[in-house]
Amino acid sequence: MINNEEKFKAVECSKLTKTKIYFKCPFCWSNDKGKHFSSNKFKNGKISTRKPTIHNHGNPDGFLNRLERRSSHCAFYKGEFIIDINDNTIKEIPNGLVVNFD
Ligand SMILES: [Zn+2]
Repeated sequence: MINNEEKFKAVECSKLTKTKIYFKCPFCWSNDKGKHFSSNKFKNGKISTRKPTIHNHGNPDGFLNRLERRSSHCAFYKGEFIIDINDNTIKEIPNGLVVNFD
């Protein structure tokens, strides 16, 4: 089922690298074979071991906290994600790169 109700969905950035923005999708789950589902439950209602799918987008703009707006790649959501890069985000800053957090 595709979620067309929400045009914008706020998510928290879980990890930021020099080139990528990662976040856990609130709309899809993946099994250990990499298959995507619109629920973390089986059809019989039992909870599966599926984990929230982690989507990624390009990071053009370094390591500062900010909001990034991206069109969804998600199979189950066609709106836009507002990705919150904040103090909880794991920032994989390469050795030797100077980052100004002011
Ligand atoms: Zn998704």
